Parts: sequence; structure tokens; C-alpha cells
Amino acid sequence: MRYTYCPVCGEKLSEKIIGDEGKVPYCSWCQKPWFPSSNICVIAAVFSESGKIALIRQSYGDDERFVCVAGYVKEGETAEEAVKREVLEEIGVNICGIKYIKSCYHHKSDNLMLGFAARAIEEKFTLSGEVMEAEWMTPALALKALENSSIAKALVAESIEKLL
Ligand SMILES: [Zn+2]
Repeated sequence: MRYTYCPVCGEKLSEKIIGDEGKVPYCSWCQKPWFPSSNICVIAAVFSESGKIALIRQSYGDDERFVCVAGYVKEGETAEEAVKREVLEEIGVNICGIKYIKSCYHHKSDNLMLGFAARAIEEKFTLSGEVMEAEWMTPALALKALENSSIAKALVAESIEKLL
């Protein structure tokens, strides 16, 4: 997203040349450039000690498909902290060995999704209100359950290759 008004003070932005970046929207009141930016999300392929993958079905939307745990990065949080928090919030599982795998930009939502793989002990899930169902699936089942051409499927496939 490219800013027209300053997100802090609401002043209309002008443009300022900032080094190699060229013309950047600039608030002369706050004296701050506002680089175009996207929403930052994390998505996680969580592997158990036996190589199963935790997938969820969410309670909103009409999609019956399984997906990976995902969520937005909060202000001041690292991507790794966000992965850890989201997995704990959504399925009640503590993860370790968080490893960056790949990213994907989603035009429609202007979301930049950072894909991670992580390890966890295969235990019973404690689901948040947003999650209808969670399952530990074998890699073959997980790949079948995920929607083709989804970031989740690409992330799981690449994580399997790198981790298993
Ligand atoms: Zn401002």
C-alpha cells in the first residue's frame, strides 16, 4: 500500500527523494518518510517428532479446507515471536526450532506472508474460538488436505523437503 496521508497526523504527504529509494511519500509535519508497505503475516508448518503436520480448519468463512496456522505480526514483534504466539493461541502447542522457509505476496489482501516451519511435541490441541478443528496429519495426507496453489501447500511441501 502506498500512503497518501500521514498515518500518524493525517497531513497530506508530499514526496521527498531519499537516496536510492527515489521519491518517497513524506510527511513534512512529522518529518518522516512513509515507505509503501504491506500487512505482514506469518504462516506455520508445525511438525511433530514423528513428522506429522498440524493443520486446522477455521470456524469462519465457508471454506471447508484445512489450512496452516497463520496470523498477523503485531507491532514491535519479530516474525519468529509472531509464529510462536499464533501457534500457541490457535492450537495451544508450544513450538521450537522455528525456521524460515519462504514468503508469498497476496495481492488481493496486500499481505506479505512469511512462511516458517517449526517443531512441536505431538500433543492434544487446545483450540481457540477461531479454530473449529485441528489434526496431526502425515505429510501425504496434509498435502492432500491443503488447497492446490495455496501458500500453505507450497510451504508444507518445501518444509517436508527441507526438514524430513
Ligand atoms: Zn505526519
